[in-house]
Amino acid sequence: MNDQAPLPFLDLAAQQARMAEPLRKRIETVLRHCQFILGPEVAELESRLAAFCSASHCVSVSSGTDALQIALMAEGIGPGDAVFLPAFTYTATAEVPLLLGATPVFVDVDPRTFQIDPAHLAARIADVQRAGRLRPRALIGVDLFGQPADWPALQAVASRAGLFTLDDCAQSFGASLAGRRLGTAADATAISFFPSKPLGAYGDGGALFTQSAERAALYRSLRTHGEGTTRYEVLRTGMNGRLDTLQAAVLLAKLDIFESDLAARERVARIYDARLGNRVAIPRRVADATSAWAIYAILLPDTAARDRLQAGLKAAGVPSAIYYPTPLHRQPAYAATHDGAALPVAEDLASRILALPIHPDLSQAQAHRVCDAVLANV
Ligand SMILES: *Cc1c(COP(=O)(O)O)cnc(C)c1O
Repeated sequence: MNDQAPLPFLDLAAQQARMAEPLRKRIETVLRHCQFILGPEVAELESRLAAFCSASHCVSVSSGTDALQIALMAEGIGPGDAVFLPAFTYTATAEVPLLLGATPVFVDVDPRTFQIDPAHLAARIADVQRAGRLRPRALIGVDLFGQPADWPALQAVASRAGLFTLDDCAQSFGASLAGRRLGTAADATAISFFPSKPLGAYGDGGALFTQSAERAALYRSLRTHGEGTTRYEVLRTGMNGRLDTLQAAVLLAKLDIFESDLAARERVARIYDARLGNRVAIPRRVADATSAWAIYAILLPDTAARDRLQAGLKAAGVPSAIYYPTPLHRQPAYAATHDGAALPVAEDLASRILALPIHPDLSQAQAHRVCDAVLANV
């Protein structure tokens, strides 16, 4: 039945071919000046990223996870603090508060956009206040799969409770909400340059955005061992959290094609929407927003239907993936910290969600091949 080569889930080689010459020049420049740590490309990247999302400050760091950690460290978050975050996200979102001794408090998500539910956030803050054991301190809202969370509603709930708001935008840099690129929707925004993210490096990397000069200065200090204004003055406990110059050089080349990459992802999403929308549950678009389409996830009726579809796709040479098979409150590492609140949507999504390939080098013909294979197996 399958007479065509399997499709890749992501095609970083094809993307590389589209920017081969500028990429080579960028890398060669670094090899010539040899400033491998905090070289000029790092500052250039930070100012271009800040301009891209109209943020006042950008501080590049060693990964998306480290961006989240530095942001919480700057607020002094630690033991006794409750950090609210969605139960349906990548593990790093919950790992970071735990590393700092704080307690993650899991919040359920919207069944069709998959984004954290502001009404349930309010309920979970009330749970923590009633129990009286933890101080509500911070919200890590996640922009899941490329779409923005409902930041206006989240900010309203968070500000009533006096929470610091951190946008985990690891998957969604390039998306916009109300005509504005993500990067300024919360008190601080963390992004990731993991190679498979919409703006990926060739290794680990990340960045923080904030409108606060004070926070930006803290982030710069924390990413370099808590250093002060002179090199060997140590003001606070920090970390080795810098972005490599070579990764900044790669990202500068990628930034030149980023907008066209985003448009190409949107074209694939539209083909999927149009051809699959009346046979399976397609992702609901967040209102007044654009998506970076890190992931295009559909919902099947149940786990058995998902298993059947995944097997059928595989036989047709179409890769698929499950983000995420287990909600965080069910993970062995985190279950003990969970207060037992019901999180039915996160559990339901984990049982029947499936991601289809989406990337800027997926041709229209390939997108239709994906759709043919889905329609033949649902
Ligand atoms: C990828 C990701 C992270 C972590 O980013 P790294 O750069 O891999 O450390 C954090 N949160 C979410 C939601 C992610 O998808």
